[in-house]
Amino acid sequence: MNYLPIFVDVKQRPVLVVGGGHIALRKITALLKAQAKVRIVAEKLHKELQQLLAEEKVEWIAKQFEPSQVSQAYLIIAATDDAELNQFVFNSAEAQQRLVNVVDDQPHCSYIFPSIVDRSPIQIAISSGGASPVLIRLLREKLEALIPHNIGAMSDIAARWRNVVKEKFADLTQRRRFWEKLFTHQTFQRLTENHQIEQAELFLHRELEQDNPIIGEVSLVGAGPGDAGLLTLKGLQSIQQADVVLYDALVSDAILELVRRDADKVFVGKRAGNHSVLQEETNQLLVKYAKQGKRVVRLKGGDPFVFGRGGEELEVLKSENIPYSVVPGITAALGATAYAGIPLTHRDHSQTALFITGHQKPDGNKLKWETLAQGNQTLVVYMGTIKARELSEKLQRYGRAKDTPVAVVSNGTLPNQTVRTGVLENLAELAEQAETPALIVIGEVVKLHNKLAWFGKQEGQFISTHDTLWKQHSQYIAPVEELQLAS
Ligand code: SAH
Repeated sequence: MNYLPIFVDVKQRPVLVVGGGHIALRKITALLKAQAKVRIVAEKLHKELQQLLAEEKVEWIAKQFEPSQVSQAYLIIAATDDAELNQFVFNSAEAQQRLVNVVDDQPHCSYIFPSIVDRSPIQIAISSGGASPVLIRLLREKLEALIPHNIGAMSDIAARWRNVVKEKFADLTQRRRFWEKLFTHQTFQRLTENHQIEQAELFLHRELEQDNPIIGEVSLVGAGPGDAGLLTLKGLQSIQQADVVLYDALVSDAILELVRRDADKVFVGKRAGNHSVLQEETNQLLVKYAKQGKRVVRLKGGDPFVFGRGGEELEVLKSENIPYSVVPGITAALGATAYAGIPLTHRDHSQTALFITGHQKPDGNKLKWETLAQGNQTLVVYMGTIKARELSEKLQRYGRAKDTPVAVVSNGTLPNQTVRTGVLENLAELAEQAETPALIVIGEVVKLHNKLAWFGKQEGQFISTHDTLWKQHSQYIAPVEELQLAS
């Protein structure tokens, strides 16, 4: 360990800053946040420092630096552009055994400023000891994104209620469990996120009063189409807090890897022809786990409300009075087309995008074929490969041109993504060859795939399968750059 990480209380303690330019300003801003008494030694002051001086937030010694100034200071910062002067400040501080930092000059620092993620009162300080500030910046950005903004508010509340909770639960394990459940409870989280601190404390109080505090809850989380990077931050937080995760066949392994290690993972994938029974079982499992007081995540491919029966699951939870929330996900129509380079809308080609399913309840509403067959719109079909022939015939019968470009995207956003393109007339053949899960895209925008495809390139090859049909029908397609397909 090259440095000892410590957090220093500089409140009302004098800190000497030598230099009055913009670098000094940067450091002074941080020092003032920590409520230090800042003394600036400089002949001239930066405009913003003059303003701080006018507001009496800093002191100014309008003289040259003298070693005697060091003895009055708790910490010293040299932030001038004069290397000799910086060295002089460093030597003077070292001689008097004061901590000194020469900005951006690590050999002349007896302490260094870490990169920080500030969720006061919680602070995370990171440092590579000067080895790689860029890596540290990237790490900090990751942490910034990952650490919820309400964590500061939650810890403030915890500080206020610490003793009350201690009185209620003498046992340490019980106490820890109470806090854990509270901090990860979606209602408490939502209230602190919205700065409804009073209500959050009321919630805490109520939970504390109950004999069996905190009932379970269910979060319906969209896992996105496959690429784990497309999971939302909130989705990630949910699966990392869950006690039980019930997941579908469409949830990728990479996402399951992100689930908390000691959570129970329960596969509730659908088996063909057995839908209703299994859905009912899933509903019952959700209710059962929640009633055991568990934090349950129902993890679904794509978005839970898009052809995912999420609504039906919530209805069951609602009827059982189980608290729930929904974390949306990137639905296949958005993910797979983005990764295939097919914009769903385009000013020149399509002003409308329709999402339909090829798989409906036998007694369900009928599709409006006149509407679906209109030109200059994009039709995205989920679960459509088995019905591709019927789809193609009906659309043509209702007026969609037989040479309308179509694409079948298999395993969208995953490394084995395959895009097959052709025309409406031949959709059935294209769909037959497609691996599942597969999404059908019909409309003029599909022709942009040739030009805009960007994903799936591996070892100099496009995985996209440019079907011969596409070439055959290329007279219908606006001139596009030929893709550089490696042989
Ligand atoms: N709720 C999901 C859809 C569930 S229906 C969502 O919002 O995406 C299942 C259908 O979604 C599949 O039959 C397929 O048509 C489509 N699908 C899901 N993931 C896909 C993927 N990675 N690539 C292509 N199609 C996908």
